[in-house]
Amino acid sequence: MLFIKSVRYVISGAAGFIGSHLCDRIMERGDQILALDNLITGRRENIDHLIGRPGFEFVQHDVCERFEVHAPVDHVFHLASLASPVDYLAHPLETLESGSSGTRNMLEIARVHNARFLLTSTSECYGDPLQHPQSETYWGNVNPVGVRSCYDESKRYAEALTMAYHRVYGLRTTIARIFNTYGPRMSLNDGRVVPAFIDQALRGVNLTVYGDGSQTRSFCYVSDLVEGLLLLSKSDEPYPVNLGNPAEMSILEFANRIRAKFDNRAGIEFKPLPSDDPKLRRPDITKAKQLLGWEPKVGLDEGLQRTIEYFKEAISTQPSAISA
Ligand code: UDP
Repeated sequence: MLFIKSVRYVISGAAGFIGSHLCDRIMERGDQILALDNLITGRRENIDHLIGRPGFEFVQHDVCERFEVHAPVDHVFHLASLASPVDYLAHPLETLESGSSGTRNMLEIARVHNARFLLTSTSECYGDPLQHPQSETYWGNVNPVGVRSCYDESKRYAEALTMAYHRVYGLRTTIARIFNTYGPRMSLNDGRVVPAFIDQALRGVNLTVYGDGSQTRSFCYVSDLVEGLLLLSKSDEPYPVNLGNPAEMSILEFANRIRAKFDNRAGIEFKPLPSDDPKLRRPDITKAKQLLGWEPKVGLDEGLQRTIEYFKEAISTQPSAISA
């Protein structure tokens, strides 16, 4: 049990890629954070610059274990999860736990403190979608027993649990369905397409395109996403809201966009498509625009440039997917 003098935000997954950017933004505004992370995929160096600053407290804690906060709390953000396919396929039980027990424990903190609660859910709730683009009213096409089900169903359960807390306790809850997000502080070796391609391009080796590369994704820069999360956390909309950048492209096209930024011979190497890999993904963000007045501002070229700069530095300290 911890005693903390003054806390306004409790954030799980705070040392992760998105969590750490969220912490930066909240600290810039002079608010206070109790940051939780078990560091299974989160990295301490993502928040090292915040540790020790007044108003920021980091506790290495697994949210699947109960946790009490003895101080006022205004907002609870539940981001803790294994978010990359490589990571959740390697840790399916932990993934299910963070969506179930982890969500429950974070909801309990919000309930006890009568705080607002924000769940970071995912476009994976739509599975391999039969509706395109995906709007929040679409119920999805998830394989409940496939390899990705540990992630998809944990998030769908987390959404159901969040709605139940809203209905039973009148908790002020919000649910963000996050689409593919990229930017500095992604892990080079988490297998996601953005770090994988940039890592490969930086090393001048072939970019590994899975399948024929015709599957599509829509990439949102992390600062845009963080603004969307902060706006949503203050809204009174309990039902899910998509947050993502609707600029859609095929993975092959994306590989070529990255290759064009490097002056080397990195080519393309086709590899088998993982099972249940969604064929099309693009958010319909009408609801976020109307409800929050939010839409992404950072274009792909600008976002990629900032991300590449970060990875140029990181490559000397982080293990790459290639050597891992
Ligand atoms: N992908 C790829 N090469 C890679 C890594 C991923 O072609 O080295 C593909 C993957 O099959 C998927 C897309 O890129 O179609 C996005 O994959 P990611 O793991 O980033 O996230 P997802 O959207 O599948 O959760």
